[in-house]
Amino acid sequence: MNNKPSYIELEKQNEELNKTSNKRLEQLLKNSFDMIVLLDSNGIQHYVSESCEKILGYRPDELIRIPVIEQLIHPEDQEKVSLAFQDIVKNSINGGTQYRHRHKNGGWVYLEAVGSNQIDNPLIQSVILNVRDITERKNAEAALIESKARLSELNATKDRFFSIIAHDLKSPFNSIFGFCELLVEQLARKDYQGVEKFAAIINRSSKQAMDLLTNLLEWARAQTGKIEFNPEYIELVTLVNDVAELFDDSAQQKSITILKDLPHNIPVFADKYMVDTILRNLIANGIKFTHPRGKIRIHTEQNENQLTVSVADNGIGIEKEAIDKLFQIEYSYSTTGTARESGTGLGLLLCKEFIEMHGGKIWVESKPGKGSTFRFTLPAI
Ligand code: ADP
Repeated sequence: MNNKPSYIELEKQNEELNKTSNKRLEQLLKNSFDMIVLLDSNGIQHYVSESCEKILGYRPDELIRIPVIEQLIHPEDQEKVSLAFQDIVKNSINGGTQYRHRHKNGGWVYLEAVGSNQIDNPLIQSVILNVRDITERKNAEAALIESKARLSELNATKDRFFSIIAHDLKSPFNSIFGFCELLVEQLARKDYQGVEKFAAIINRSSKQAMDLLTNLLEWARAQTGKIEFNPEYIELVTLVNDVAELFDDSAQQKSITILKDLPHNIPVFADKYMVDTILRNLIANGIKFTHPRGKIRIHTEQNENQLTVSVADNGIGIEKEAIDKLFQIEYSYSTTGTARESGTGLGLLLCKEFIEMHGGKIWVESKPGKGSTFRFTLPAI
């Protein structure tokens, strides 16, 4: 008896084997974490493996024979993808291009495609792309970059802190100790010559140290997330009047007039303590950087979305190059006032921090020799 399979039986077995192998391949492609894409030399996709649904939300038939680059690639990445495709067609291979592809839900998915030109391969006759979802990797990279930037900012803050404590806080205390010693010696000798002047210096230096310490502590608390943002309904006009009153003496000493060009009342929803600090710093700077007999004008403009508060002076102004350095901890820009008042460059940083907590902005317009106008916004109610 001949047990050998017939030709027909062999054909059938072969067919079965082929079917199983095709099915296996199909399942492999479907369950792969990557996507296989076949394109013609014009960049038109004619096969996309089923795994695309897991990655992009689209079914394979929704991704073929459409202008993918124009329709589904992020506008900023379209040129890069076109060039990479041309590179594969010309040079047979492309080592990996990263780009954003639209997800069916409207979002973007970060992909990395490695390509090989198999157009001359009679079994494939296409460009093959092996495409991988790298969104998680990209998000981790972005988080790393952000945390690096945050770290270097914190480092700059720390350096600034030490330098303020070492230099700026030391100098008013040096004056206080020095003049106190003089006072004690002279008073013991009942020599009253100059004591009033010494007392005034002690007074001024104590105030300077106190102001600096207040800013320093507020800045430290803001940086360590210890300042709570507690907005409430407040009356801005009352607050401006209260803060301006604190400067009556120092303004008078320099014969500077503080004009308040304000409506009758301005209700705002803001953190009172923070707005107080912002106004205090801006008015103090106005006085500090304005010559005797100068003017400071506090003004507000309200529109539908926001309230803009301006503190303008006709003082010494700020050079263009210096303006770019304001509000940045890395530069900690600070100059002495018209009466040689010293500073730390912390005040404006604090203002910016607090205004941003309100969702507002701060900026300055200034002309050297003419004066400066600092403006900040608060959300309107
Ligand atoms: P400080 O006044 O303690 O130096 P600030 O952060 O408040 O710190 O200000 C930083 C610097 O910005 C000042 O030293 C000064 O050079 C400049 N500046 C701020 N306000 C004014 C102003 N109204 N006019 C001119 N320069 C100003």
